[in-house]
Amino acid sequence: MLKVVGCFTQEHDFTLVAAAAFVCLLGSGLSVRLFVRTLFAREGRRLVHLILTGTIGGATIWATHFIAMLAYDPVVDHAYEPVMTIASLLVAMVGVTLAFAIAAAARGGLRIEFGGVVFGLTIATMHYTGMSAFQIPGVIIWDQALSTASVLLGAALGALTFNRIGRPVSRYCRAGATFSMVLAICIMHFTGMGAITLALDPTISVPPKAISDVFLSALVLIVVTMFLLTGFAAFLIEARVQDEAKKQFTHATLHDTLTNLPNRLYLVRKLEEYAEILPTSRVAVITLDLDGFKEINDLYGHAAGDALLACIASRLNGALAPDEFVARTGGDEFVAIKANYRHIREVDAFAQQLRTRVLEPVPIENTELNVGVSLGIASAPEHGDDLLEIQQKSDLAMHRAKSDPYCQIHHFTPGMDQQNRERLALVTDLRVALERDEFEVHYQLQNDIATRAPVGFEALLRWNHPTRGRVSPDQFIPIAEQTGLIRDIGLWVLRTTCFEAASWEAPYRMAVNVAPQQLLQPSFAEYVSDILIESRLAPERLELEITEASIIDDQENTLRVMHRIKAMGVRIAMDDFGTGYSSLATLQAFPFDKIKIDRSFISGIHTDPQRAAIVRSTLLLGTALGIPVLAEGVETEEELTFLQKESCAEAQGFYFGRPMALADLYEITHRKPPSLTLVREANSNG
Ligand code: C2E
Ligand code: MG
Ligand code: MG
Repeated sequence: MLKVVGCFTQEHDFTLVAAAAFVCLLGSGLSVRLFVRTLFAREGRRLVHLILTGTIGGATIWATHFIAMLAYDPVVDHAYEPVMTIASLLVAMVGVTLAFAIAAAARGGLRIEFGGVVFGLTIATMHYTGMSAFQIPGVIIWDQALSTASVLLGAALGALTFNRIGRPVSRYCRAGATFSMVLAICIMHFTGMGAITLALDPTISVPPKAISDVFLSALVLIVVTMFLLTGFAAFLIEARVQDEAKKQFTHATLHDTLTNLPNRLYLVRKLEEYAEILPTSRVAVITLDLDGFKEINDLYGHAAGDALLACIASRLNGALAPDEFVARTGGDEFVAIKANYRHIREVDAFAQQLRTRVLEPVPIENTELNVGVSLGIASAPEHGDDLLEIQQKSDLAMHRAKSDPYCQIHHFTPGMDQQNRERLALVTDLRVALERDEFEVHYQLQNDIATRAPVGFEALLRWNHPTRGRVSPDQFIPIAEQTGLIRDIGLWVLRTTCFEAASWEAPYRMAVNVAPQQLLQPSFAEYVSDILIESRLAPERLELEITEASIIDDQENTLRVMHRIKAMGVRIAMDDFGTGYSSLATLQAFPFDKIKIDRSFISGIHTDPQRAAIVRSTLLLGTALGIPVLAEGVETEEELTFLQKESCAEAQGFYFGRPMALADLYEITHRKPPSLTLVREANSNG
């Protein structure tokens, strides 16, 4: 005889139903989160993520189902067949993994939703496999329509869940997906449960080896604990990986890649940090700039330059005490901070230490490289309380140290600020000096030493500033070079002097100084050629003076330009010989027509044996290479006599005359004052 038991709603323990819903919500949330990570995981980690997500997703469905089953009281004796109970867990895990794998591999189309359908069908398969394990003293009668509806609802809600994960339109979509997954699991389950009617049959008994409710509770507890632990472990690992990546990123943005020292951004942050302890504590900023680094780069190559920087950086960073800090802020510029000191002497000692570390020779490729360093110090609160300004002030002090041959560590003084302002004012004025016609060229004689007769002139630029009066070229030429203005100014000088020389009766040579930047102009050779054609000056009468700095900048290009200029017939002299980094090597490699020995070697040459030796060897070198030598800065008869005895070819200096204005020139060059309008016209044409 069959007794029918129905209506699932009246036979559920709602506390356990709530527990099922809670586990379902927690597991769904975890699964959705993990699946989103899976979608963004790198190729190698994707599979691990997928399996993890599938396992947790499957366990969620399974645990929800069986907790709900525990909540269900069929009023009759019941139990669960162990094989199908465990099989239903495996079905859930494999099915969900497969569903997520399909969606993760989707590249357009409806594959994401298809993965969702597989997910929904997995819920149903799990449900019916689990139900097949349900043992009662009787049989289960299924309502076909409701069973079918449960499968379809599961599939539809599965598709919706995956659609929300795979095609999010707002940040709430992930929560929507979780909610939809909970609905998929619960609606599928309860619709499925609604489809059953139990027909009791006393001839059928529950097998004794089946799993009891108590045992099932323990099993569910184990599975739930397992998936929760796995989920949270995954989260912890993920969080640590993310944290690590974040740390690496922060490190990269705050450090210099070559030396691994803190970079400028880090320095600014550090200064902001130290600003907090002002004015109760003291903070000093030291700017360091390497001397002669560019030359090392040019002579030994960039790899050697990089290795040198890395070595110096690690030395600077290696022995820092607490409250000391070093950053690399530019090519060969570093900034150090010392805070919380009592006496400025401690800062001096720190600066001295830093300097010693830089000066130690650096062994690179079987040789030892040496660089110098200039340091500037400014401190708060003595020089102000804005640490960014303090840093600029230490930079000014560093520049002062750079131009001081005797002291490489300078402290900031208020006078430096004033000078800096003046320099800026000078830059502003220099920009308009050409337009305002404030430049003038002076000419200094160059004489043959044997006959003492003039052979040419060197053109020397003068700036007649409207308020400051005459500004020395040593002051404004470096500024013109730094600002790039030298290109226009240099061309003006070349044009003016070529027209001038072309108007002379006597065919004296005209020597014109050319700055490194001019030589690197792509059309410099064309400019020279055009000016020669326009002015009708014979090319042999023009001599361009270049210093070693021009050559060091870009050797290949310089050589090319020099050959083009020489091909026109123009001569090229090496200016300030002996003051450069490797004058001898330069002389051998480049086609010079003349060597000009720097005036620092000529002064007192007849009494100073060292200078005499240098000049003698230069003269020998000139003879060996077939290049005539001119001595600069000859001021006395004795110096000239010495040079004559050593067979030096030419001399220039106050002995023969100071640089002179045009009006004084005419006696020697035999020419009436030039028509200024002619020169101006020519200039405006150029
Ligand atoms: P420089 O080319 O080596 O020019 C020689 C400098 O030595 C000139 O200084 C000249 O006045 C000075 N001098 C000549 N004879 C004597 C002497 O017997 N004793 C002493 N104590 N000095 C002497 P100046 O005119 O002040 O020029 C300085 C530097 O400015 C020049 O050195 C050159 O490098 C640069 N300069 C001048 N005019 C130009 C120009 O048109 N273009 C470029 N690029 N640089 C220029
Ligand atoms: Mg010169
Ligand atoms: Mg010179």
